[in-house]
Amino acid sequence: MKNVSEYFGSLVFDDRVMKATLSAKVYQSLKKTIDEGAKLDISVANAVAIAMKDWAVAHGATHYTHWFQPLTGITAEKHDSFISPSPDGGVIMEFSGKELIKGEPDASSFPSGGLRATFEARGYTAWDPTSYAFIKGKTLCIPTAFCSYGGEALDKKTPLLRSMEALNKQALRILHLFGNDSVKCVRTCVGPEQEYFLITKEMYEQRPDLQYTGRTLFGAKSPKGQEMDDHYFGVIKPRVAAYMEELNHELWQLGILAKTEHNEVAPAQHELAPIYTTTNIATDHNQLMMEIMQKTAAKHGLVCLLHEKPFAGVNGSGKHNNWSMATDDGVNLLSPGATPYENAQFLLFLCAVIKAVDDYQDLLRLSVATAGNDHRLGANEAPPAVVSIFLGDELNAVLEAIEQGTPYNGAEKKQMKLGVDVLPKFNRDTTDRNRTSPFAFTGNKFEFRMLGSSNSIACANMMLNAAVAESLKIYADRLEGAEDFETTLHEMIRKTIKDHKKIIFNGNGYDDAWIEEATKERGLLNYRTTPDCMPHLLDKKNVDMLTAHKVFSVAELKSRCDIMLENYCKTVVIEANTMISMAKTQIAPAVDAYTLKLAQTQAAKKAVNVSLPCAYETKLVEKLSALTDAIYTKVEELEETVAALTKNDDIFAASNAVRDTMLPQMDALRAACDEAETLTAKSYWPFPSYGDLLFSVK
Ligand code: ADP
Ligand code: MG
Repeated sequence: MKNVSEYFGSLVFDDRVMKATLSAKVYQSLKKTIDEGAKLDISVANAVAIAMKDWAVAHGATHYTHWFQPLTGITAEKHDSFISPSPDGGVIMEFSGKELIKGEPDASSFPSGGLRATFEARGYTAWDPTSYAFIKGKTLCIPTAFCSYGGEALDKKTPLLRSMEALNKQALRILHLFGNDSVKCVRTCVGPEQEYFLITKEMYEQRPDLQYTGRTLFGAKSPKGQEMDDHYFGVIKPRVAAYMEELNHELWQLGILAKTEHNEVAPAQHELAPIYTTTNIATDHNQLMMEIMQKTAAKHGLVCLLHEKPFAGVNGSGKHNNWSMATDDGVNLLSPGATPYENAQFLLFLCAVIKAVDDYQDLLRLSVATAGNDHRLGANEAPPAVVSIFLGDELNAVLEAIEQGTPYNGAEKKQMKLGVDVLPKFNRDTTDRNRTSPFAFTGNKFEFRMLGSSNSIACANMMLNAAVAESLKIYADRLEGAEDFETTLHEMIRKTIKDHKKIIFNGNGYDDAWIEEATKERGLLNYRTTPDCMPHLLDKKNVDMLTAHKVFSVAELKSRCDIMLENYCKTVVIEANTMISMAKTQIAPAVDAYTLKLAQTQAAKKAVNVSLPCAYETKLVEKLSALTDAIYTKVEELEETVAALTKNDDIFAASNAVRDTMLPQMDALRAACDEAETLTAKSYWPFPSYGDLLFSVK
């Protein structure tokens, strides 16, 4: 095999290929579009299309697709071939600028939440030149945004790009106020750490729940789980190592900077982290990465589970969204810097994030809300459903000193005009100790840890970018009109700390006492489930902010709220139906068969000697019989709830019913079935056990 630097990005139409295949003039115009958002001329688009097609065909591609991210949360593609008939009966390979720029997939079946009636099937895809085109299989994939005939966004990329633009605009105002006139643009960067489980395909195929819903809906606890913590950072098994090796190869070819891989806390759980990059590219790459993780697993006889909670009682999977802001000349705005002047700017950007997270706790919470992630947040593992910020002791002491107007007694003390001492250097060791915080400062970036493993990172980042843009706008408005820049700046920083310190928490986020303190004393929000938080997307303050920064229109917000709640209901209904079917057609019959076996054994024993006690068989038959009755009743109750739900067309009421009635009924049904599993001979049980699944990959 070639070495990595030779094949890295070989399937990407990246800057290297553009330089090599485009004329200098076309290359310059395209660069202007990519870097500065300049409008693209059709003649340039035509030239790019031809170069892209020639390059793709030379790499074996026969088709192209506009690759987009509809609100289903996964990616979509519709393939068209390059062929065009020639008069001599043959074909030529063709691709035009028009086809590159705009596509018209029949989009009637994608969720639109009322933005596009089904009879008006047209949706448009529009090329996003800031994310490179790439080849997957035999298809040239062109990253695109997806919108309705009326121009409303039907995807996750459009609002994400808009939020990046909003943040860029406000951050530039602030930097100009600090005298930085050379900076052209500010981008947010993200490095998403992706967690996942690997199990064998053989086990997976025996579990309808995993196949239909991605998680186990039944399963008694295995004697060994994660209690020994012996899997975390443990030696990677050969089969997993082979998988990771091929995965890396695939990802590197696609220019994805896969970097760190290790075993996670739970048995069979692993993590893959890429090196961070610009947010919209990181988002495209993460979607692609999830797809390739699953495809590569199949080649190794494995299945990659991306569900947030595949196994009850075992840690779930999340995605840590490492986020920062950087200028086009490479300055990280969340890096404390070495001089007081840089410190003040750093403190202002830091405060902008603190204020944003506090003011828009609800938006951050709902940006990660799905039926799957509800099992993690607030359970005893992942960050809680309460949003708070971890800053670490040093930074906390700095902020306290500013608030109280006292000198900061840090390691490197030097008073500056602003009344703030020179900040100490933050290194990861001093800030990264807290693993329980939902939103932690880790030296020069924030790590938002509430995302679920299957979430698109677009949702969290569009809210985060928009909220920070809003803080920066408020600061810029005030500073631009200030008579005395430094005094105003100092007062603003101080006021932010005072008003928003309630969101800062450096203790243990898993502790029940924290939830009590957060909600009762600090008044922080605790939205435990999707139906609890999602309706707040339409709260006036949120609609005002998101529309003011042009991240969403009112119609888009309404449609998104509907779609997210619909997804929630649909997900749980599929789970309920799967449970009903498994309980009725597999579990109850298995328990009955075993009960019969016990009764037959008892009868046989009695035939030998009628006075044999047979207490074991008697008791077990009684217990199992009570359990099958309980299972039967619980299935009937659940069936009624499912039937009632399908008649409910108020999405808010329906999602509340799912949360309050359906999910508890599912838990009760599961409890009865799991108990039956512990009493039934393994040879009778119709599916692999938790132990089989979690320790299946040898
Ligand atoms: P840990 O597992 O300790 O949180 P890792 O080093 O495994 O840390 O992952 C950290 C992630 O943060 C990586 O994806 C890395 O590229 C990313 N990252 C590092 N610096 C920045 C930054 N300035 N902005 C955004 N992401 C960053
Ligand atoms: Mg991390």
